Amino acid sequence: MGEFAVFWGCTIPARFPFIEKATRLVMGDLGAQIRELEGHTCCPEGVLVKGTDEDAYFTTAARNLALVEKAGLDVMTPCNGCYSTFMEAHSHLATDWRMRERINERLAPENLRYDGRLKISHFAEWVCDELGGALVASKAKTPLWGMRLAVHYGCHLLRPQPAVRWDDPLHPTKVESFLTAMGARVVDYPTKMQCCGGALDRVGEREASLAFCRNKLYDLKANEVDALVVVCPSCFQQFDLNQAALQRANEDIDIPVFYLAELIALAYGYEPSEMGLDMHRVSVRPFLDKWGVAQGDKAAVSKEFDVALLGKCYACQACKDDCPVCKIDPTFQPTEMIGRLLRGEMDGVVSEGAAFKCLECFTCQELCHSHIGMAETFRKLKEVALAGEGGPDSVRQAYATFLKTGTLGAPRESARAKLGMGPLPASGGDVIARLMAEESAGDTGAAGVEPVGAGCEE
Ligand code: SF4
Ligand code: SF4
Ligand code: SF4
Repeated sequence: MGEFAVFWGCTIPARFPFIEKATRLVMGDLGAQIRELEGHTCCPEGVLVKGTDEDAYFTTAARNLALVEKAGLDVMTPCNGCYSTFMEAHSHLATDWRMRERINERLAPENLRYDGRLKISHFAEWVCDELGGALVASKAKTPLWGMRLAVHYGCHLLRPQPAVRWDDPLHPTKVESFLTAMGARVVDYPTKMQCCGGALDRVGEREASLAFCRNKLYDLKANEVDALVVVCPSCFQQFDLNQAALQRANEDIDIPVFYLAELIALAYGYEPSEMGLDMHRVSVRPFLDKWGVAQGDKAAVSKEFDVALLGKCYACQACKDDCPVCKIDPTFQPTEMIGRLLRGEMDGVVSEGAAFKCLECFTCQELCHSHIGMAETFRKLKEVALAGEGGPDSVRQAYATFLKTGTLGAPRESARAKLGMGPLPASGGDVIARLMAEESAGDTGAAGVEPVGAGCEE
């Protein structure tokens, strides 16, 4: 998708212009060439229009899409409702050619015609699939390290199939994978696939709507999430606005809610104030405060590692089951260790010592399409561990031996003599010991350590 039309819908500009602002910022940073077309109307909204007048529903959707086709573009929308309406019209009018022709006759005086040639995308689809989550994540100046996030997809991004075919309609994972690549820890929770219930509000069922909202928010609270991420303004309305209503009624819940683009914009370095995050009804301040603290932990990680590379590797995971060690020892999960580093858990990863299980066999590097590999990450972790108090005794001892003798094994002269071989020339170990003495004498405890191979002479 090069240049494309953006369809904002009516809810975002009317009620949540801060979502529009963040989405524009992110699209600009990602090089989107967007066109905003004149003449668009409401998509229209399904609950209020389709049930009342299916003909008006499909005519309006076809007209909105025909404007995009006339401009020779594809269309992207940040709204689940608009996406669902367009995908449904796209699918329905592809098979119901009588209705399509009837609508086209109606559109003809407007010099418009809908043929169904265009591609329809949702903002989340554009980020996760069309651009690629790994690429979008790699541009983050401040990854979402240390943050526990939950995702609410919203029904209309996923269903009904076959009109909508983006992710698994009941077990979606794409937004979670993207947020993981951004460094967050994504929390699965029992009510993830439960509808937000916002449509009940629109048909006068306020209490039922709030019950849906409350149900999910308490589930999120029990799972100790730092924020809920949504990809739809109607879902945002339900979990932000209606959560605030529940708070006013003394409900004990406090879950900040972000539209996906807002989180990306924050990670790209935009200030909360320039994005209008203070317009959220549920304060995002606890999230921002915790995120700020987490950055300190992460500074240690970025001092030692190329975090962008770690992020790419963690988003990929293509070779995670090919490591020979994890085939024998399922507790060694190399990509999970990289994920923990991205979340700033370096002290824990180092102290557990699992990096020493990496054989440095370079299988991962050979398999890696980008020749990244994971061996270098684990080598670095070993170095950090050994520079402190960590690492297996055997490794520390061998290192001390090497510093002292310049070798890890003395020649078995008696066995060599039996085989008719004379003594080898004198070792240059004393040279190594002398060269390394300044750095090693004070902290390795090398003196008095037997060479690793010394016991072979018995
Ligand atoms: S789905 Fe909702 S926000 Fe989107 S255009 Fe329709 S009514 Fe407006
Ligand atoms: S180098 Fe380490 S992480 Fe990579 S495949 Fe070998 S043992 Fe596994
Ligand atoms: S080493 Fe390469 S193939 Fe394996 S997970 Fe990392 S980036 Fe992907």
